[in-house]
Amino acid sequence: MSESSVGRVGARRLRVRGQVQGVGFRPYVFRLAGELGLTGWVRNDGEGVAIAIDGAGPAIARFIERLPAEAPPLARIAAVEVLAQADEGGYRDFRIVASGGGAQRSEVTPDAGICADCLEELFAPGNRRYRYAFINCTQCGPRYSILRGLPYDRPQTSMAAFAQCPDCLHEYTAPANRRFHAEPNACAHCGPQLAFHESDGRLLAGVDLVAEVLAHLVRGEIVAIKGAGGFHLACDARNAAAVARLRLRKQREEKPFAVMFAGTASLAGFAAADAAARRLLESPERPVVLLRKSAACDAALPGVAPGLAWLGAMLPSTPLHYLLFHEAAGRPAGSAWLATAQPLVLLMTSANPGGEPLVTGNDEALTRLRGIADAFVLHERDIVARCDDSVLRLISAESSPAASAIPVPAPASFPAPGAAPSSATAGDPPFQFIRRARGYTPQAIALACGGPAVLACGAYLKNSLCLLRGEQAFMSAHIGDLDNAATCVALEAGAAHLLDLLRVEPAVVAHDLHPDFHSSRFAAGFAAQRGLPCCAVQHHHAHIAAVMAEHRLSGELLGLALDGVGLGSDDGQWGGELLRVSARTFARLGHLRPLPLPGGDRAAREPWRMAAAALHALGRGDEIAGRFDRPAAALLGQLLDDGRHAPPSSSCGRLFDAAAGLAGVSSVASFEGQAAMRYEGLAEAHGAVPVLADGYRIGSDGVLDLLPLLARLADEPRTGFAAALFHVTLAAALADWIEFAAARSGLRRVALGGGCCLNRFLLSRLRAQLEQRGFAVFEAQQVPPNDGGLSLGQAWVARHRLLAGEI
Ligand SMILES: [Zn+2]
Ligand SMILES: [Zn+2]
Ligand SMILES: [Zn+2]
Repeated sequence: MSESSVGRVGARRLRVRGQVQGVGFRPYVFRLAGELGLTGWVRNDGEGVAIAIDGAGPAIARFIERLPAEAPPLARIAAVEVLAQADEGGYRDFRIVASGGGAQRSEVTPDAGICADCLEELFAPGNRRYRYAFINCTQCGPRYSILRGLPYDRPQTSMAAFAQCPDCLHEYTAPANRRFHAEPNACAHCGPQLAFHESDGRLLAGVDLVAEVLAHLVRGEIVAIKGAGGFHLACDARNAAAVARLRLRKQREEKPFAVMFAGTASLAGFAAADAAARRLLESPERPVVLLRKSAACDAALPGVAPGLAWLGAMLPSTPLHYLLFHEAAGRPAGSAWLATAQPLVLLMTSANPGGEPLVTGNDEALTRLRGIADAFVLHERDIVARCDDSVLRLISAESSPAASAIPVPAPASFPAPGAAPSSATAGDPPFQFIRRARGYTPQAIALACGGPAVLACGAYLKNSLCLLRGEQAFMSAHIGDLDNAATCVALEAGAAHLLDLLRVEPAVVAHDLHPDFHSSRFAAGFAAQRGLPCCAVQHHHAHIAAVMAEHRLSGELLGLALDGVGLGSDDGQWGGELLRVSARTFARLGHLRPLPLPGGDRAAREPWRMAAAALHALGRGDEIAGRFDRPAAALLGQLLDDGRHAPPSSSCGRLFDAAAGLAGVSSVASFEGQAAMRYEGLAEAHGAVPVLADGYRIGSDGVLDLLPLLARLADEPRTGFAAALFHVTLAAALADWIEFAAARSGLRRVALGGGCCLNRFLLSRLRAQLEQRGFAVFEAQQVPPNDGGLSLGQAWVARHRLLAGEI
C-alpha cells in the first residue's frame, strides 16, 4: 500500500495570488511537495500560480501551512486560497506543467539586483559563468524591465531572442536547480554579450571589455553604461575634473549626483550608514539611499553633491557593475574582498540628457549621448520597460524628540470614521520614497477595497501614472517633468504599456485640475477616444488622498498639504493647505498667508525674489534694492507695489524659499527644491533651538501667518540659527494650526502630504508634536509624498466619485 493512500482526504486545488511569478515559486513548490511526499502539479497562469496536490491529509495540511511561510525571498504572497473545486487526483508524481491561460490578473515582479549565490559564481575562476555579465537565477536579475506581457515566461521577454545552450537548458528544466525556469537564464555561449564603442560610435572589438571600461573611467572619461532599466553615465567620482566635465556636458550645474560603492564596507569616510541603511542598500531592490555625509566626503568626492548634507549612495545592482569593482580590485577570487573597503567610487547618473526620458536603446544611446559620453558599453538584451534608479531616504533612525516618551498603539488598518485616534503607522515609517522606480515598479499597493478600474495621469512635475485594478494600485516608474516633448511621449507610451501589461480597461480617467498640463490633455484625449468619463482632481486633495489610499483610511480626516504649487479650486496658486478631506471631496479649512510671486514662475527658481516679497509684505520694500545683488532687484519693489505680475500664492515651498532667500541661501536655485534642501541641511547641522513663540498667528479665518517669523529672520545674521529657528517655529505653528482645525471639525486624524514632507527636520518635529497631542498621523510611505505619488490620490478620488455616481 502506498503511503499516499494513508489518511487520504482527497486532492486539493490551490490558488496563490500576489507576486509569485519569476521569483522561483514553482521550483519551490516542487521541492516542498517532494519533501512532503505529495503528488500533483504546479503551473503559472494569468491569475498567479495554480497548484493541485494529492496525498496524505496531514501532509497536505502541512503543505498549505508551509507554502506561504517558507516562500522564496522575492515572492510577495497576497493570498493562498484552497478552492472548493474538486480535483481528480491520482497523480504519479509532482510536476511543473506548462503555463495555462486564464484571465490575465497576475502581478509583475520588479527587477532584482544580483544575489549572493550568483555573485560567488561570477568571481569563481573555473565556473562556467566566471565574469559573465548576464548571470542570474530565480532569485535575481531583470524581470519587469524585460517583460512584454504576462504570464511571465521566456517567450514574453526580451530573452526570447536567445536560444539556451544544452547546459543552460538543463538548468532551466531541472526542477531542483536554482535556475529552474529562471526566464533570463543564459551563459557566455548562448546569452547576450557586451560591446564597447568609442566616442564616435565605432565598435572596439577584441579587447577585454571590463578592463577597457575601467581604464577609461580611471583616465577621467565619461562612460555610458547600459544597465537593467536604462543607461547610466558613469565617471570616477573621486576625480574632480571628470565630475566637472560631466556637469558641463549634462548641463547640470549643482543638482546632486548619486555614487556607487563596491559594498557597505567602502562607505567609511564618505557617509554614515547604520544597520537599517546598510540593509536597504544591500536589499535586492538596490535603491539609491540618501546618507548623511561624513566630514571628509566633499573633499573626497569633489562636486558630487555640493552644499548638501546628504549623499545619494547605492551598491552595484548588475553583474557588470560588480565586474568593474572586481577589476579595480585586481580580479580576486571569491567575494570576500567586498567586505573590505574598496577605493573605487563611481558616479552613476541617469543618462537622460536635457531632462528627457532615460535612454534605453543601443542606437538611441549612440545618438543621444554623443558628445556627452567618451565611450559606450552596450549589450544585446533589450530593455522593454524604462526604469530609473529608485531614491529613498531612511527615517527610522531619526529620533522624534517627544515620540519616545509616548506609548505607540498597535497599528490599525481600517480605522472607522470618527474612531478614536489609533496612531497610524506605529512610529515613523522606516523609509520614504523620493523617487519610486527600479526594484519597486510595478509592485502593487494593497487598497482597502476594490472598485472600478481607474487610470490616473499625474500632474506636471515628477510625473508618474497610477492604475487601479480591483484592490490593487499599480504605480508606473517615475516618468519625469512634462516640460519637454520626449517626456510627454513617454507618458503616453507608459500608459499604453501599463494598461497592456496588466490587461485593464479603465472605467474613468483622472487628472489634475490644471487643464494645460500635458497629463490633463492626454487624459482628456484618452477618455474621449474610448467614451470614458474624466475626473479632474484638485492637486492637494490628491496629495492627501494618496496617503488615505495607501493607509486604507476611510471617512473624513484633516489633510495638511505642504507643497510647491498646485491649482486651487478658486483658480489661485495653492500650496500650504489645511483641508477637511474625504475620498470624494474636500473643504479648505485654512491656508498659509499668501505671499506674492514677483515675476510669476521665476519666483520659484529664484528664492531671493521670495525673500524680497517677504520684505515687501513686512512693509520693508525699500530694503530690496540694497539687499540683493541682482540686476532685477531695483525694479522688484515697484513690481510688488504694482502687483500685476506678482500673483499671490499660499505655497509652503515658496515660504521656504523666502526664509532661505533672506539668509542668502541659494539666491538662484539650480534645481527644484535646492534652497529648501540646503536650508534643511543648515538646520540639521545647527541643531534644534527654542521656538519663536510670537513668530506666527492663526486667524479666525484659518489663515496661518508666519510673517512675524520672517521679520525675525530678516534681521538674523547667523544663518544656521535662522534655519533652525524657521524649522522649529514652523513645526510648532503647523501643530497649533491643526489643533485649531481639530477643535472646529472634531477630526483627530491627520494626513500629511506634498513635496515639503520630504523635509525630515520639519516633519519629525511636527509628527512628534501631533502625536503628543493625541493625533493619529499618516504620511506617504509606499509612494513619494511629492508629485511622484500624486496619481495614486487622483485615482482614489476618481474611483470614489464614480462609485458615488458623481461622474
Ligand atoms: Zn542569482
Ligand atoms: Zn548557455
Ligand atoms: Zn504637489
